[in-house]
Amino acid sequence: MTLTPEERYKFDEIERDAAAAKVRWLLEHKIMPRVAGALDAAATGGRPVPACQHALTEAQMGRRGLTDDSANATPELAFDWLCEDQGLLCSACSRWHLAELNGPHAKDALSRCIVCGDWHDLRPWSPVVDVQEPVQVTGVGVALVGVVGVLPVVWECAAHDGFLDTTARMQWPRV
Ligand SMILES: [Zn+2]
Ligand SMILES: [Zn+2]
Ligand SMILES: [Zn+2]
Repeated sequence: MTLTPEERYKFDEIERDAAAAKVRWLLEHKIMPRVAGALDAAATGGRPVPACQHALTEAQMGRRGLTDDSANATPELAFDWLCEDQGLLCSACSRWHLAELNGPHAKDALSRCIVCGDWHDLRPWSPVVDVQEPVQVTGVGVALVGVVGVLPVVWECAAHDGFLDTTARMQWPRV
C-alpha cells in the first residue's frame, strides 16, 4: 500500500487512537480488577497480598514501592497484572519473570509495539497504583502502603516511544 505523506499521517493518527483505546480498556477491564482484587482480598482479611521472597528485603531497605509523590519515582515492587496469584515482585524477580522464554509475558499478544506492531527495541509502559490504606503482604510482616508499580502493560517501539507519555495512576481503595 502506497500512501502520500498526508495519508500516512492520517493512518498513524488512527493507529494511535486505537492504541490509546486499547490501553484504556486494559486498565479498566484487566489491570485494575486484578490489582484491586488482590488488595481487596487482603483488606477484608481474605488473604494477604502474595509477594516474592525478596519483598521483605526491599521493604526493609526502604526501597519498597515508594513513598513519595514524585511523578518520576520508579517503583521497586510491581504487581503482576497478568498471572493470577503472582502478586508483588521485586525488581530482580520482575526482570527475570518478564524475560522468561515462552513465559506468560513473552507469549502475551501485547508484547509488540501497541501502535504499529513492531517487535524491535521495545520500551515498556506501566501504570502505578497508589495504595492509600495499609494492606498485609504474605510473609513480609509489614504492610504495603504508598505507590507501587505494575509490570509492563504495553510496549512501544522507538518510533512510538512516548506515545503514552503520561503516567496512569490508579488509586486504591477506589472512591
Ligand atoms: Zn506474570
Ligand atoms: Zn523477588
Ligand atoms: Zn511502533
